[in-house]
Amino acid sequence: MNRFIRNAILFLIIISVLTACTGQSGSSKTPTRTVFAMDTVMNISAETDEATLDEVTGLIRSIEARLSTTADGSDIAQLNSAAPDTHVSPWTSEAVREALSLCERTGGALDISIYPVVKAWGFTTDAHRVPGEGELQGLLENVDYSRISQAEDLISLPAGMQIDLGSIAKGYTGDRVIELLRSHDVRSAVIDLGGNIQTIGTKPDGSEWHIAIANPLMPDSYIGYVKVTDAAVITSGTYQRFFEQDGVVYHHIIDPATGCPARSGLTSVTVVGLSGTTCDALSTALFVMGPDRAAAFYRESDDFEAVFVKDDGTVTITEGLTDIYVSMTGITPDVIRR
Ligand code: AMP
Ligand code: MG
Repeated sequence: MNRFIRNAILFLIIISVLTACTGQSGSSKTPTRTVFAMDTVMNISAETDEATLDEVTGLIRSIEARLSTTADGSDIAQLNSAAPDTHVSPWTSEAVREALSLCERTGGALDISIYPVVKAWGFTTDAHRVPGEGELQGLLENVDYSRISQAEDLISLPAGMQIDLGSIAKGYTGDRVIELLRSHDVRSAVIDLGGNIQTIGTKPDGSEWHIAIANPLMPDSYIGYVKVTDAAVITSGTYQRFFEQDGVVYHHIIDPATGCPARSGLTSVTVVGLSGTTCDALSTALFVMGPDRAAAFYRESDDFEAVFVKDDGTVTITEGLTDIYVSMTGITPDVIRR
C-alpha cells in the first residue's frame, strides 16, 4: 500500500482512538495543529495559543531540514554525499550523539549506518526489491556505527558509510517539541508524530491520557492502552512499512547482523518512558533483539517499560506497566519481571 495513504489511515485511527480514549471531541477548545513532515502526518494538541503552535510547526520543519536524508543541503545529506568531515547544526550534533550512545547501549541492534541496506531493500523510495546475498554482504562491510567519529559539531564517516536517523528522528523531534511547549508553560499536551505519542501533564480535565496500542496483526484494532501523564509511547512494528513478494512479507526494521528484515519472533514493540529519543531508538532495537534478548536488556535498564507482541499475537508487558496497561483483548498479558 502507498506509504502516504497508510500514514494517513494510521493518523485517522490514532485520532479516533485518542478521541475515544481521551474523551476529546470535535467541540474541544484545545488548539490542534496538523503538520505533514518527516514523511508522515503529525498532530499537536496543546493547551496553548496559535502563536506557540506556529513556533512548534517551525521547529519541526527546521529539525526536518537538518536531519532528513533526502532534503538538499541537510546535514545528513551532506554527510552521506562523501564529505569526509562535516560541521553540522546543534540539532544534528545532539541527535547523532544520542543515537551513537544508543547504538552502543543496544550492542549494535540499533545501527544508524544501516542506511545503504535500507535503500537496497527500496524502503526509501517505495521501489521495493529483495537484494541478493552477495549485494547485502558487500553493503554490510560499511555498516558499523563504532567507526563514526564525532567531536562536538564535527562528524566524520568512513568512506562508503552513510547514515539515517529514521529510527530516532521522530522521538528526538518530539523531545524538542515537548521542551518548547514546556518553555511556554504548557501543562497539558499530546503530540502524535506519525504514531509516536508524547504527552505533557494530564488531559485538560485532570485525568490521565489513554494511549492506544495498535494490534499489529489486525488493522484498525487495538490490543490495549496505557494510562500515562508525562510520557513517550513509541511503537515499532512490521505493519508500519512493508512489502510482499512471492508470498513473503518484508518489513522495514533491519537486523544489522544479517542485512535482512529482523525475524526475531516479534511483530511489534511499544516502549514507554520519559525520553522520546530513547523510546524511539529502543523500540527499533528491542524489535531486532527479539523477546529473550529484549527481556534481558530490560532487566539491566531502568529508564523504560515495554509492550511486546509476538508473531503469534501473544502480548507480554514489563513489570512497571502492570498497573497502567489495560488489555482490550480480554486476555491478561504475561509480565516480564526485573
Ligand atoms: P522505527 O520505525 O523507529 O522502528 O525505525 C525504522 C527505520 O529506521 C527504518 O525505516 C529505517 O530507515 C531505519 N532502520 C531500520 N532498521 C534499523 C536498525 N537496525 N537500526 C537503525 N535504524 C534502522
Ligand atoms: Mg524507532
